Amino acid sequence: MPADTPALPDDRRPSLEDAASRDALQLIAEGVTQVAGFGIAAISVVRENDMLESVAIAGNEEARAELEGTSTPVGRLLAEITDADDWGLLRFVPHERLDPTDGDTWGWVPDIEPIDDAPDAWHPLDLLIAPLYDDAGVLRGSLAMDLPVSGRRPDEAQRAMLNQYAEQAGRAVVVALEREALAQQVRMAQATRRIVRRATAQLSLDRIFAESQEAMVEGFQAAGMWIQTFGRRNDDSPGHIYSSDGAHVVLTDELRRIAEAAAHEAWRIQHVAVIAPGRASESPLDDDQNELVLSFMRAIDVASILFVPLGAGPECVGNLALTRLRGGPDWTEAEAAAALDIGHDLGRAILNARTFEREHRLVQELQALDAYKGQLIATVAHELKNPLASVLGHLEMLESSPDLSGTTKGSLAAMERGAQRMVKVIEDLLLLSKVGDPENPVIARPVDLRQVVDDVVDLVGLAAQQKRIDLRVELPDDSVVALGDATELDRVCANLASNAVKYTPEGGAVTLRLERVAEEVVLTCADQGIGISEDDLERLGTEFFRSSNPLAVSQPGTGLGLAIVRRIVDRHDGRIDIESELGRGSTFTVHLPAA
Ligand code: ADP
Repeated sequence: MPADTPALPDDRRPSLEDAASRDALQLIAEGVTQVAGFGIAAISVVRENDMLESVAIAGNEEARAELEGTSTPVGRLLAEITDADDWGLLRFVPHERLDPTDGDTWGWVPDIEPIDDAPDAWHPLDLLIAPLYDDAGVLRGSLAMDLPVSGRRPDEAQRAMLNQYAEQAGRAVVVALEREALAQQVRMAQATRRIVRRATAQLSLDRIFAESQEAMVEGFQAAGMWIQTFGRRNDDSPGHIYSSDGAHVVLTDELRRIAEAAAHEAWRIQHVAVIAPGRASESPLDDDQNELVLSFMRAIDVASILFVPLGAGPECVGNLALTRLRGGPDWTEAEAAAALDIGHDLGRAILNARTFEREHRLVQELQALDAYKGQLIATVAHELKNPLASVLGHLEMLESSPDLSGTTKGSLAAMERGAQRMVKVIEDLLLLSKVGDPENPVIARPVDLRQVVDDVVDLVGLAAQQKRIDLRVELPDDSVVALGDATELDRVCANLASNAVKYTPEGGAVTLRLERVAEEVVLTCADQGIGISEDDLERLGTEFFRSSNPLAVSQPGTGLGLAIVRRIVDRHDGRIDIESELGRGSTFTVHLPAA
């Protein structure tokens, strides 16, 4: 018989994945064939479904082909050996004792004849097998043999040797199964970590927990779990308990405090602790605390807890408790290591979620502040409008009275100019708050922008003429229609054109151009004026911003015109580009969706 096992096709490969375990069992099986003198030897392991699965077979080719990868119910083996002769670890069932009505035989039946009629001649239906138990007396596998080379049932010496092999096989099977379970655990823990990692992309702790808790409970073969996050001073984020369904975790304040302190210590030394009766020495708690936690565990029917600190960098932000019930497996090193990795993932996620929450809150506060500012401006402007109208009315009345001196007339005219400027500011403020109010959206209609530009040219024409500014207008022959509010779009064009005229010195040129470009309507207002510095460009369009350039400040203005332009363009789903160079001029380009 060849010593090397020939390569098997993939689907017939022995099912033990750990190569070292496989080799060890194969060696034992070969010892039974080559040294103890049997034609065939097979080692099987007990699987979770209570089936004995053959994992190492040595000897007779034909038998091997038939036995490889086969499974037999554990119950059948136990039934067959109930009446067996007890040969130490081995059980022998002579064929005479087999139930003749049961046509189905155990394992493989060699196609041989007994060599003679002697009582010790080996019969093809003789059964010789060693059930393999672990220290706890649990059946973990079997070592079966057949076809003695001598053709006889084993004598005393052979039985002793076979017992030794059975002992070795028992140990090797337990080790193989343990290794396999460990590899399985590592795989599960890694898979769990992948799921948890994916879940930590979420920015809310509730979502992270909802998406990862099932994977954690399954991956760690836990009965349940909970996560405690810690509250923080200087922050109103309170501590919280997230527990998996079914586990009703009501931690008293004292337990929370104990767990928090223990988690900080565990995080500092990067340690995952097992809390279970009889394992006080491993617990991160002192004796009294340990006893308190154990009694809590008894109350919720939990036998052990894997206590995992959660954190990022030096900061510990919470803990994860994975629970197992009585009779559950022990927590292994591999599981503890995987759990600590998850502690890092979750810790970072908790910090991220907190930062996000804080920023979110801040944005909300800023938005509320902004809304308040808008409201304040609108209210004040409104309250000023009526008294101002009354002042203007009275001024008009006074101005028309016949017996006024020249000085009085001059004063009244100055008062009226001032009041008119106040009216302008108030109107701008009211418009600014109107176009910035989300409750007051644009009612869009087709607007022919050629008409708008024509109106604006009329409006600023006189001022341009007074400064001998060459006001050029470039309009296409066809109408250029945008969707929007005609009055608001008129304001955009008017504000840009009047700024261009205002900030261009005498004798300069201002161009107003209108084009249709693809799906957009483009309005350009270009001047050869004082220009805007880079610093000022950045702040342009914020309310009340006026340039630092003395040439600009010397012109009357409120700093509201461009803020109004920006808001109107925004709410029309358009955009505005500004190009400018100090001393050279500015170009404002407004893009609006075409109708
Ligand atoms: P203002 O009432 O001050 O003109 P705007 O909001 O219309 O307010 O403009 C803000 C600031 O932007 C102005 O004070 C000015 O410094 C600068 N600015 C606007 N348009 C031009 C331009 N065409 N050329 C140079 N500077 C300009």
